Amino acid sequence: MSTHFRFFTGILLALLAAVTPALAATAPALRIVTLNTVLTEIAREVAGENATVTGLVQPGVDPHEYEPSPADIKSLVEADLVLASGLHLEGYLERLVSGAGARGRIVYVGDAVPVVLTLPVAPAPAGPNPPAARSGSGDELDPHWWHSIGNVLFATDLVRGECTRLRPALAASYARNAQAYEERLFTLQSWAAREIATLPPARRQLVTSHDAFGYFARDFGFTIHSINGYSTDGEPDARHVAELIDLIRREKIKAVFAESTVNPKLVGSLLGAGGVRLGGTLYADGLSAADGDGANYVAMYRHNVRTIIGALR
Ligand SMILES: [Zn+2]
Repeated sequence: MSTHFRFFTGILLALLAAVTPALAATAPALRIVTLNTVLTEIAREVAGENATVTGLVQPGVDPHEYEPSPADIKSLVEADLVLASGLHLEGYLERLVSGAGARGRIVYVGDAVPVVLTLPVAPAPAGPNPPAARSGSGDELDPHWWHSIGNVLFATDLVRGECTRLRPALAASYARNAQAYEERLFTLQSWAAREIATLPPARRQLVTSHDAFGYFARDFGFTIHSINGYSTDGEPDARHVAELIDLIRREKIKAVFAESTVNPKLVGSLLGAGGVRLGGTLYADGLSAADGDGANYVAMYRHNVRTIIGALR
């Protein structure tokens, strides 16, 4: 290779390196709109400063009760990419966006994750008017997929792929960001496994307000007993509460858990039965509005694991 040739190749490579980010920067920032606080975090981590990420379901808000405002609908319609929880959590979305003519792509992330669970089959209540939340056919999908770290790893790569499709020039940056985030998730996964291994399997019984921890239970060998089935509001069935109290006494369960976005009265109905106490408050339906324990996914997960283990050990 001649000295001249090498010189020109060097110049060319230097020029390319300088021009590629400049080209990428001229594309307008991706507009990503999310309907799940964990997806808001993933989108911000992966897309970085090259996107505006708008989380419509705010931290600390019950996603089961969320309804989009007219301004939210405008954001959904104008977004390049909409990230929804999926698994029927956003039952309103399909009708809403097809009616309004959304211009971007809607990804139901939960519909694509590797582990999808169904909600537990509720026992048929004895009364003449069984509450709706506990009378399901049992084949409803459980939308709380983010409590499995493996699913969140998958979701991160899915978001990386979607961003890359829309802005191929930024592929390397998305890949780097996704890898950095995934490394934190792998660390969290092995930490959680080590911590939970210290809790004897017989103690792995989780009594919570609503059916949100199925994926966590599957990953770490817990059995879930929820007070109110899938519902995050309304009164629990009295007969079901009596059964839970029996179970707490029989199994000598030491603690029950409240949830950050659910009325603590629900779990209050069990306190004192067989000496059971409040083990703490878990983040069931997404990240928290306050700084600290529930402010990001890793902090939320660590808080949940520490609270559960500390109270049941
Ligand atoms: Zn929920």
